[in-house]
Amino acid sequence: MYNALIVKYGEIGIKGKNRYIFENKLIKNIKNMLKPLGKFDVYKEYGRVYVELGDYDYEEVMEEVKKVFGIVGVCPVIKLDRKSDDIEEAYQLLQETALKVLEEKIEQGCKSFKVESRRGDKSFRMTSQEMSIDIGGYLLSKTEGKIPVELRNPETKIKCELREHNVVAYSDTVPGYGGLPIGTNGKAMSLLSGGIDSPVASWMVAKRGVEVECIHFHTYPFTSEKSMEKVRDLARILAKYCGKVRLHKVNLLEIQKAVGVNCKEEAMTIISRRFMMRIAEEVGKLRRCDALVTGESIGQVASQTIQGLTCTNASVSMPVFRPLIAMDKTEIIDVAKTIGTFETSIIPEEDCCSVFAPKRPVTKPKLDRIEADEASLDVEGLIADAIEKMEVEIIEF
Ligand code: ATP
Ligand code: MG
Repeated sequence: MYNALIVKYGEIGIKGKNRYIFENKLIKNIKNMLKPLGKFDVYKEYGRVYVELGDYDYEEVMEEVKKVFGIVGVCPVIKLDRKSDDIEEAYQLLQETALKVLEEKIEQGCKSFKVESRRGDKSFRMTSQEMSIDIGGYLLSKTEGKIPVELRNPETKIKCELREHNVVAYSDTVPGYGGLPIGTNGKAMSLLSGGIDSPVASWMVAKRGVEVECIHFHTYPFTSEKSMEKVRDLARILAKYCGKVRLHKVNLLEIQKAVGVNCKEEAMTIISRRFMMRIAEEVGKLRRCDALVTGESIGQVASQTIQGLTCTNASVSMPVFRPLIAMDKTEIIDVAKTIGTFETSIIPEEDCCSVFAPKRPVTKPKLDRIEADEASLDVEGLIADAIEKMEVEIIEF
């Protein structure tokens, strides 16, 4: 029955003369998201974006479209071209179409309705308000008392639009994630571990329109090929939202060894974290990223106390975005479940940090002591070496 989707976007609308850039990006991102399903006609009309469904199942298409960042809601609609200039004929068509939508709602168990109309074609004899009353009457007469009109608190609204070239009727809006279209707010390098947090952090930043590339640190052969596969799987889920993900894989083993031999055991986690940040920053610069992203949250583990975060932060000059900073683990888990990364994140695999974790890490590291501890290391040489051996994969959904 439904032959198109209306895509509703919120914040994009307030971007003034940049609006068309956002809309065009959104259209491109919708097409990309739908690529695995097939080729779809996605276009702008009267300041709105439509997706033509063709022979596809609307629920299946909607499920994909609503994942595109920048979309606040998706509505399955019946959209029919007007056959002629005869506006009375078009109005008749609109009423019949509205009836189809209402009948479907009745079948779904809906108990009351209200009509909301829009007169896009100003040459029509009725105002929008009059149209609503008139169509409401028509629908009541055709449904034989199966469903009453309820103006204050209707269970469903039947939306009817009489436009210059077509008529549109629909009722439901399925919520999207909001945010902004990917690629409208620069690029960030996200430190992706195999845990629960960093995929959520990456997703949240991507939701704000930031293109995200990932960097993962491993200590192969101490960490297994399977743990790398898990990170790839997480990147693949992110790619569902981001188009594709460039995954940089860096072996931290030589660095961990050097740190282990030369630095105090309790400072190992912080010092390795500082190495990760520095490497991410270097690679980020090469990739023209504007910021780094981590899944850190205040006080979650020893290295994420304010003092720990201060020491980590001091290792780089690029801005570091920590979208989870004030979130509880339970809140992070809720997002992870919604976006589909949770099940993969909880697969037990060793992480390079857990392999070399000190038994009693410092919880209040002092930056000057950490720096003094690092002074015995050839920091630049170790970093250059690790980057030189880095491997890169492009992960697509
Ligand atoms: P969880 O707490 O669920 O294990 P996590 O791995 O994200 O998630 P931490 O181990 O405390 O949490 O790490 C903090 C942050 O540091 C991560 O969110 C991630 O951004 C970065 N990080 C940690 N380990 C790695 C790694 N092996 N590769 C890339 N980034 C990492
Ligand atoms: Mg972790």
